[in-house]
Amino acid sequence: MPAPVVKIENLVKRYKELIALDHFSLEISEGEIFGLLGPNGSGKTTTINCLLSLLSFDKGSIEIFGEKMSPDNYKIKSKIGIIMQNVAVINELTVYENIDYFCGLYIKDKATRKQYVKEAIEFVGLEEFVKFRPKKLSGGLLRRLNIACGIAHKPSLIILDEPTVAVDPQSRNKILEGIVELNRSGATIIYTSHYMEEVEQICTRIAIMDKGRQIAVGTKEELKKQIKDTEKITIEVMDISDELLEEIRGLEHIGEATFDGGELSVKCHGGKHNLIRVLTLLQQNDIKIGRVYSKQPTLNDVFLEITGKELRD
Ligand code: ADP
Ligand code: MG
Repeated sequence: MPAPVVKIENLVKRYKELIALDHFSLEISEGEIFGLLGPNGSGKTTTINCLLSLLSFDKGSIEIFGEKMSPDNYKIKSKIGIIMQNVAVINELTVYENIDYFCGLYIKDKATRKQYVKEAIEFVGLEEFVKFRPKKLSGGLLRRLNIACGIAHKPSLIILDEPTVAVDPQSRNKILEGIVELNRSGATIIYTSHYMEEVEQICTRIAIMDKGRQIAVGTKEELKKQIKDTEKITIEVMDISDELLEEIRGLEHIGEATFDGGELSVKCHGGKHNLIRVLTLLQQNDIKIGRVYSKQPTLNDVFLEITGKELRD
């Protein structure tokens, strides 16, 4: 098996008495879009900064491309593209000059660099803004510039730390599509976010973080399988007898069944066709049915079940 692109083992990082990372481990393989999902303050940015040797840490080890990462390992650094949570561009330079500057840190050949800068501009769709200075750009466009600066040198590992915070929906979609495209063209991606929908949408695997710890890891399907309630069914009904409720609870794969405010709520544990079985039972008992919803669990439900609190704050 090839060495993982990133291997973090038992990382501990303290800021004075605060433990920001508490024996945090992670392995990321080539070709993944790996999501680090966690609420604000859970340690995502600290992980990224340790990974890049921008921050020293108290315990643990970090390998990138099978080598120990260190502040002066420029060979590794040249293969990484980093898009920081706080936009890091130079205000005195135009859009074009910014991308050219960051690309130039890695790509010395002028003709190649010109081509790469052009491709990065097209990639983020900033063709019309090349002469603008960062201050003149909207939040979304500024984020796109930040991304262009991080990816122009065609790194094979791209790290994006909350690249969609405070951007308009159009830029957000463009950014998400762009990440998938970068991955298709061969880059391994690390993507941090506190938006579970985004992570679900694009990530091949996800580590959920809370208080500096990894609380779960896997594909979104694997994560959802870890929790007890795998489906929530809601059915509008006028009334339902306690006997029938009890009968529903007795169905295979069904746990809780409650009736409140004209709504029957049923929680299921695994199994298939749960909705049909509940509906059939209701029909057999001549219960008139209004609207019906069947909801699969979200990553928020996973977070809620493990930590006892909501992922959204
Ligand atoms: P996230 O990126 O998931 O929002 P961070 O890694 O930024 O989380 O922060 C993790 C924890 O460490 C938080 O409690 C935060 O307040 C704290 N923290 C982050 N940076 C510093 C710092 N430079 N000094 C002290 N505490 C910090
Ligand atoms: Mg952060």
